[in-house]
Amino acid sequence: MLRMSTLFLRTLREDPADAEVPSHKLMVRGGYVRRAAPGVYSWMPLGKIVLENVAAVIREEMGRIGGQEVLLPALLPREYYETSGRWTEYGDSVFRLQDRKGADYMLGPTHEELFTSLVKGEYTSYKDFPVILYQIQEKFRDEARPRAGVLRGREFHMKDAYSFDLDDDGLQRSYDLHRDAYMRIFDRLRLRYAVVSATSGAMGGSASEEFLAEAPTGEDTFVRSTGSGYAANVEAVRTPAPPALPVEGRPEAQVHHTPDTPTIETLVDFFNAAGLGRTFTAADTLKNVLVKTRPPGADEWEVMGIGVPGDREVDMKRLEAALEPAEVALLEEADFAANPFLVKGYVGPNALIGNKLRYLVDPRVVEGTAWITGADKTDHHVMDLVCGRDFTPDGTVEAAEVREGDPSPDGRGTLYTARGLEIGHIFQLGRKYTDAFELDALGADGKPRRITMGSYGIGVSRVVAAVIEQSHDDKGIVWPRVVAPADVHVVGTGKGEQIDVALRIAGELEARGVRVLVDDRKGVSPGVKFTDSELLGVPTCLIVGKGLDEGRLELRDRRSGEREEIGLDGAVDRVA
Ligand code: ATP
Ligand code: MG
Ligand code: MG
Ligand code: MG
Repeated sequence: MLRMSTLFLRTLREDPADAEVPSHKLMVRGGYVRRAAPGVYSWMPLGKIVLENVAAVIREEMGRIGGQEVLLPALLPREYYETSGRWTEYGDSVFRLQDRKGADYMLGPTHEELFTSLVKGEYTSYKDFPVILYQIQEKFRDEARPRAGVLRGREFHMKDAYSFDLDDDGLQRSYDLHRDAYMRIFDRLRLRYAVVSATSGAMGGSASEEFLAEAPTGEDTFVRSTGSGYAANVEAVRTPAPPALPVEGRPEAQVHHTPDTPTIETLVDFFNAAGLGRTFTAADTLKNVLVKTRPPGADEWEVMGIGVPGDREVDMKRLEAALEPAEVALLEEADFAANPFLVKGYVGPNALIGNKLRYLVDPRVVEGTAWITGADKTDHHVMDLVCGRDFTPDGTVEAAEVREGDPSPDGRGTLYTARGLEIGHIFQLGRKYTDAFELDALGADGKPRRITMGSYGIGVSRVVAAVIEQSHDDKGIVWPRVVAPADVHVVGTGKGEQIDVALRIAGELEARGVRVLVDDRKGVSPGVKFTDSELLGVPTCLIVGKGLDEGRLELRDRRSGEREEIGLDGAVDRVA
């Protein structure tokens, strides 16, 4: 039983000054973590419990796929990383140090080298393989911008697993096992996530997927098809270069010039004067309008599409900033089919990608194919649109296949962009590291075989924050039970009897296997206790308060906010 009268816990009323995202604010205010240095955090008692709860789910699912837990050092001699070439490759993104004799070390950012070398030391025969080893351990990376509390730490907790197989089929099996295990883990942690194609980056290797927890505060942007199940980190979207298009022959019809510096109001007037078939207001959704812009004094016009698929809104302020101080003219009366051209597009968060877009160009509709060219770090994504011709890019756009019933007017599917937090990453490394360390197994035929490898990470500490990003309200954290530091928060208000009863109930609940946090603090007002309870986020709150004289307690559900009076007798049965 966790007793708040003695628990090493101080909650805060104010958000910490350096915190911007909800999980960071709430983990600090709730006394789950304390900052020790930039990107370096201490885990307080409740935080440690939550961290271990996440780790426990991971351990169970890793055990289920035959993973064996080990613990390797974090202090790693240079020679391992020289063998793989990563001593140099890492540059300034790792922590390096020397011992008293001047020998070089690194604090482990990930452990492919050490695991490969460990397996080489123990296993020699094909009969020994496959094997899956993993650890849950602190990792160290000198992140350029540690941010958002434990979401991006410089010291953080990772589960890293490594598979060693005799051949490519074996690697594929090990990879699939991990993929399934990760889905079970994140499902059990009640996370909403996407599994997306990823680039393998510094790790090397071929196939690689990321698990991204959906959150507006996420640093990664991914696209997902409503139709085909295709999903990819935008970093990994293989977009062919847009075709070279003739600048000559661009339509030059210019009407309805705006003043030199468009403002929201002048833009709105401008569109209305153009008679686009509807009336715009400053708070309006600006939809599918094609204009061209040029900076004052410039000769060349840039064609710009301002479009919002569906009913999503374009942020007018941002649009204004994007245009300023260009001159704007509406395009019309042009033969787009004969004169395809590139358009810079600013589209809403639900951009259509690899799909035909319809652009209203007074008074006609033109169609174009959208090509993603990157996210612009705002909610709006910069795209190149090829208008006027139905281009079929190779590669990515199968992605945009649509299933029946999806809203895609042209029948080709819709990809949506969203933000995500990378909570897991799985790689088929192949033989990059086993080649470096010459890890072979003697085959049945007496010939050596080069082992093939996968590596699989979960950011354990980041997951804790990701859960909060997805599950909180303005009062505090709303833990899913599996992660929560306790199942029930028993709150005794008042001085004497209520607290005694709260402790007795807490004891009985605990005897039934319920994990209990009990607020047995004396001299703390009920209001403060309720506020703390909501901040801490335990799923069920049982209040032993004023009603005790009449034998009544109050049961509160943290997620729904529902309150119910229950009798003292039978309360334990009810809650357990
Ligand atoms: P990111 O893109 O966020 O920098 P990464 O791709 O560098 O992450 P990996 O090398 O794939 O990270 O490591 C495996 C997992 O470790 C990541 O999926 C993420 O959940 C976690 N992780 C990586 N860096 C951090 C960090 N600085 N703080 C907390 N967790 C991290
Ligand atoms: Mg990184
Ligand atoms: Mg990454
Ligand atoms: Mg990664």
